[in-house]
Amino acid sequence: MNSSSTAKTLLFWISIVFLGILLWKLVSANKSPTEVVSYSDFLQMIDNKEVLSSKIYLQANSANVYALLRGSQKYVQTTIATSDLPEITARLKDAGAKIEISEVKSGDWTLILLNAAPLILLVGFCLFLMRQMKGNAKRALVLQAATARTGIGYDLHRLEYGRPLIVGGIELPFDKGPVGHSDGDVLAHALCDALLGAAGLGDIGTHFPDTDPKWNGANSMLFLEHTKKLLDEKQFAIEHVDAVVITEKPKLGPHFPKMREALAKALGVSIDHIHLKAKTNEGVDAIGRGEAIAAHVVATLTSR
Ligand SMILES: [Zn+2]
Repeated sequence: MNSSSTAKTLLFWISIVFLGILLWKLVSANKSPTEVVSYSDFLQMIDNKEVLSSKIYLQANSANVYALLRGSQKYVQTTIATSDLPEITARLKDAGAKIEISEVKSGDWTLILLNAAPLILLVGFCLFLMRQMKGNAKRALVLQAATARTGIGYDLHRLEYGRPLIVGGIELPFDKGPVGHSDGDVLAHALCDALLGAAGLGDIGTHFPDTDPKWNGANSMLFLEHTKKLLDEKQFAIEHVDAVVITEKPKLGPHFPKMREALAKALGVSIDHIHLKAKTNEGVDAIGRGEAIAAHVVATLTSR
């Protein structure tokens, strides 16, 4: 959970608690309403021994007196001058009423919070809206800043008898295979070039020179994985890959699901980012005669 959603959840629960307190206060207020009485009426009530207990809240020059009446849950309230305090307390004592005196009215904070609750809710809602708007603006900026880049890749390998035919990371059952320094995977190589080209990072020869014995017979998926790392470092995201593989034989279509899966895995994307097509060369030239296999790839990246 990120900090924004934590704040939202917190705000939501604070709002619920306040609403709960408000409702409770409304309900309980109806049960025992407080009646404001005059000072003289209040004195009368004390003398009639109607007061069971009282709470006196002292203020600067006056005091608020709340009294619970005997035999009912009813409260009465009156305001007296501080100078009248000794008399009131004496009378309450004589009448056998409990007296509680507070400098600051206890429970004031609840009242303050309750009174402030609508304001707090409003401020919270405004903050929430502001946060949403800020987030939207930020997202819009990010979208604006993202630029798309396209790269093209091409590769061709001669085919010879007795070599494994690997295309898109999958070995296909066939009597011929590509001649090459690595595993000769034309699709992977063209894809590497397209990705590197889009990112402006050179080509496959720059990063995996065929003069380096390290890459002798290498699995071309390693090239793709390394290319993906280079893209990540430059903060490029792979948006889409479209490829054409040209070979007279064998039929590639049935193997596309596995190839897409292998390529997507090497590039750390979902398979819907990889689109493959197959063509023959209609019997024309080296590919048409089955002497070679080739691939064209266009890759689209976004940069942030
Ligand atoms: Zn190649």
